[in-house]
Amino acid sequence: MKHALSVTRDADFSAWYQSVIAEGDLAEESGVRGCMVIRPWGYGIWERIQRLLDDRIKATGHENCYFPLFIPLSYFEKEAEHVDGFAKEMAVVTHHRLIADGKGGLVPDPEAKLEEPLVVRPTSETVIGTAFARWVQSWRDLPVLINQWANVVRWEMRTRMFLRTAEFLWQEGHTAHATVEEARGETLQMLEVYRTFAEDCLALHVIAGEKPENERFPGAVATYSIEAMMQDGKALQAGTSHFLGDNFAKAQNIRFQNAEGGLDYAQTTSWGVSTRMIGGMIMVHGDDDGMRVPPKVAPWQVVIVPMLRDQPEDEALLAYCRDLQKELVGGSALGEPVRAMVDARAQKAATKRWSWIKKGAPVVIEVGGRDMAGGNVSVIRRDRLYREDGKLDSTVCPRGDFVSGVEALLADIQGELHRQSTERLKAQIVPVDDWTAVEAHFAEDRKNPGWVDVRWARPTGDELEQVVEKLKGLKLTIRNAPMGQTGCDDGPCLFTGRPAVERVLIGRAY
Ligand code: AMP
Repeated sequence: MKHALSVTRDADFSAWYQSVIAEGDLAEESGVRGCMVIRPWGYGIWERIQRLLDDRIKATGHENCYFPLFIPLSYFEKEAEHVDGFAKEMAVVTHHRLIADGKGGLVPDPEAKLEEPLVVRPTSETVIGTAFARWVQSWRDLPVLINQWANVVRWEMRTRMFLRTAEFLWQEGHTAHATVEEARGETLQMLEVYRTFAEDCLALHVIAGEKPENERFPGAVATYSIEAMMQDGKALQAGTSHFLGDNFAKAQNIRFQNAEGGLDYAQTTSWGVSTRMIGGMIMVHGDDDGMRVPPKVAPWQVVIVPMLRDQPEDEALLAYCRDLQKELVGGSALGEPVRAMVDARAQKAATKRWSWIKKGAPVVIEVGGRDMAGGNVSVIRRDRLYREDGKLDSTVCPRGDFVSGVEALLADIQGELHRQSTERLKAQIVPVDDWTAVEAHFAEDRKNPGWVDVRWARPTGDELEQVVEKLKGLKLTIRNAPMGQTGCDDGPCLFTGRPAVERVLIGRAY
């Protein structure tokens, strides 16, 4: 069967990923390595993510605010682990003016050197913590529950569009609490917000769990993640929630008078998801014809393509399409007004059809003269593009039936993408009991190994270091220890032989 993309997932997953992004008009390279131009279709998906997630962040009591892009270097130096973790990828501003170099170019003016270098924020714990120290005096000021939508810069060496970029867009939540219990509760609450958001809105089946000690956020006491499985079996950390204990409170001096009159340090948390989620959706939902966007986050859920022929009849056809659009947007699906548009560009209908298929609009409607005469529309579902005989599945349907059925149709597509993601993940996690089985499972020639699920005694320090090295040999990492384990089935830890305390997932990752 011939597909819209010239490279298939099976032939070269990585090239396929790049081609979905290019052919789907999602993003493109910019002049700066690791920084991308997010095109309207890609940015439209991000806006949908923002809107839906923002509602959930606010529904759990958080408020949005904004902090500066530039952070004084000294703010980082207060928390040793944090600065260590980020030092190798921080972009730094050292001058505030350029002067002519006498050869037609510009150079930083030595006279305009900043007294203190400014870091372009890689994350905002330090600057937000400094504000918390001002805002929090008494237990009555707590909790502080805030979030910001922003861009951040981490000078990553190996970048890949959406998944790992040097500049990315995200939200970062930051909270301060009076007690450990409450802060831990917040950390887990936001992990659950991310999990349900990924499942309900992005149609991504994910595993929520705790990261091992070596994968913790620099300065955190505990880091939790949601992990998604891509179609090549690799893991993607799709979001993280950190319990920071009083580490940042001590560094930033966030203290409060408790109810008994004593002075306590606050307990803080932070949590974030980024434009990486779009990369995750491409790698989970995309197929050999391009992207498939879940209806809840599709900028346009129904795209109507009139089959214009440069003839006088075109006008009637366009009017028919515009009426249909009006009827659709007047109705609702998945809890919101339907997002439908008419693609009236002066291009061949087939070109437009395939451009929307590659972009992954959930439903493409084509209307030709014959459809109009019969009061019909031709419907293409992006999640089921082909019939069994390999032909494009375009179904003629009475216009009224389409309008009355669109709510169910979009819900069905959303559900179908989620079902496929769940099925894949479940089928590709294999329990394994010994190291030989791990080696066999991840043998070189195995194409799509997925993850293994092993017993674990939570080794720390040097012992953990050895485990990490051993896994590195097979390009593996521990993804997380899934939540909700009601005690581990008895048995020894795969690495240490000691009685296991939980199970962890291990796989290759992006
Ligand atoms: P962190 O502050 O490191 O916990 O990051 C929060 C979330 O941002 C991670 O879980 C990722 O989903 C995402 N993220 C981290 N680094 C990048 C990057 N270089 N590009 C895109 N997303 C990222």
